Amino acid sequence: MNRISIAELLVSDNYLHEVTVKGWVRTFRSNRFIALNDGSTIKNIQCVIDFEKTDPSIIKRITTGAALSITGLLAESVGAGQSVEIQVSKIEVLGDSNPEKYPIQPKKHSFEFLREQAHLRIRTNTFSAVMRLRSALSFAIHDYFTKNGFYNVHTPIITGSDAEGAGEMFRVSTLNPMNPPKNEAGEIDFTQDFFGKETNLTVSGQLEAETYAMALGKVYTFGPTFRAENSNTSRHLAEFWMIEPEVAFNNLDANMDLAEDFIKSVLKYILENCKDDLDFLNQRFLDEEKTKPANQRSEMSLLEKLNFVIENNFKRVSYTEAIEILKNSKPNKKKKFQYLITEWGADLQSEHERFLVETHFKCPVILFDYPAKIKAFYMRLNEDGKTVRAMDVLFPGIGEIVGGSQREERLDVLLEKIKTFEIDEKELWWYLDTRRFGTAIHSGFGLGFERLVQFATGMGNIRDVIPFPRTPQNAEF
Ligand code: ATP
Ligand code: MG
Ligand code: MG
Ligand code: MG
Repeated sequence: MNRISIAELLVSDNYLHEVTVKGWVRTFRSNRFIALNDGSTIKNIQCVIDFEKTDPSIIKRITTGAALSITGLLAESVGAGQSVEIQVSKIEVLGDSNPEKYPIQPKKHSFEFLREQAHLRIRTNTFSAVMRLRSALSFAIHDYFTKNGFYNVHTPIITGSDAEGAGEMFRVSTLNPMNPPKNEAGEIDFTQDFFGKETNLTVSGQLEAETYAMALGKVYTFGPTFRAENSNTSRHLAEFWMIEPEVAFNNLDANMDLAEDFIKSVLKYILENCKDDLDFLNQRFLDEEKTKPANQRSEMSLLEKLNFVIENNFKRVSYTEAIEILKNSKPNKKKKFQYLITEWGADLQSEHERFLVETHFKCPVILFDYPAKIKAFYMRLNEDGKTVRAMDVLFPGIGEIVGGSQREERLDVLLEKIKTFEIDEKELWWYLDTRRFGTAIHSGFGLGFERLVQFATGMGNIRDVIPFPRTPQNAEF
């Protein structure tokens, strides 16, 4: 039996050969036309049955969602919008689907509804396109780093350090909740969590990746990270995937170059390799825009945005310059930017970031040299003693997509910083060893994978670009 995927079939001109396809029914029209999809492409193959010659008991079982095996001759299609079809000679129903109970009807469902059907929403065009693109981006990321001489390091998920955690960590515990160990004050002794140690789920693989960069030169991690943040934004998840390259002997400029080249390369990969899915999402995006008032519509289509990012330099602006721009820009109540003004030293809010990217520069922006006080302890202090060599890459519609820095390589300065941040130095003895033995400048960044997928697919909510989102509302299964 000559079973091939629908993706292969659609580009085949092997007419009048018998083929077998297996997939799920999307629609069944006029007791004659089955639109079958097997996940290999956004497109369905049309399978034409001869009503007279087909067993009526089989016809009754051809319902949306049913799994079928179809055999027939491949023929050139006369219908609009498709190149080939199958003239069916044999149908086998592999799995029935009760049309009254099947949640995914052949109509447009809201994303809110589909989030409650996370296990079935992948059977819709939008989610299959998004998840195929997510998979392609994941491949492109590994491909980019491998081709550029990086090693993939698997940093731990369970970690004893919470230096970076800032109170956002998920505790990992082996304690019996019914009978937890208590300290002298009668409180639960969490230091006993993991066979005698306090442990958490990782918020970032950076510190461990740094130690590997200081031996292998160029490394990257690409793994799940966890943040117990109770934030209900369209850009935050409690469980998300992060890509974290770390490079020995790279300064902040080289780090910005890497981030820009990396993002452009992986977006270029999907533009070249995922045309059908991107075309579909582009159309979806345009349809969505049409429903908005004219002054809120995006100036570019999804494809135009992707091409724009690839073809144009990201604008590099210091934090201090950005503050000047914000101070000189009048808040505009009509637009969404109402509280633009901010003072030097303050952390930028997402409306500030979006103003810089979407209204002022109209392109991706890399902000660098942030005040030391609002950034993490490990960032390289500048000669001014006030700012650190930090960078954030800001994207239209998303805001922060990358956070990175050149790391503090000087042991004495780092120890001083650790003290100021009230971190227990003993917890970081292993990290500090990289500064004790053969220290050197190095830099790296973290890119939130889901935010990249959001940008690449034009999806507005981060919950819709990860298979099973983890947020305060979505953790049932
Ligand atoms: P934000 O300011 O958006 O909360 P952050 O500054 O806390 O992000 P970093 O610690 O710099 O985040 O992490 C690096 C990257 O990881 C971010 O630039 C972002 O792309 C991504 N990221 C951070 N937190 C989340 C989250 N809760 N869900 C999804 N992605 C995230
Ligand atoms: Mg955050
Ligand atoms: Mg941030
Ligand atoms: Mg950040």
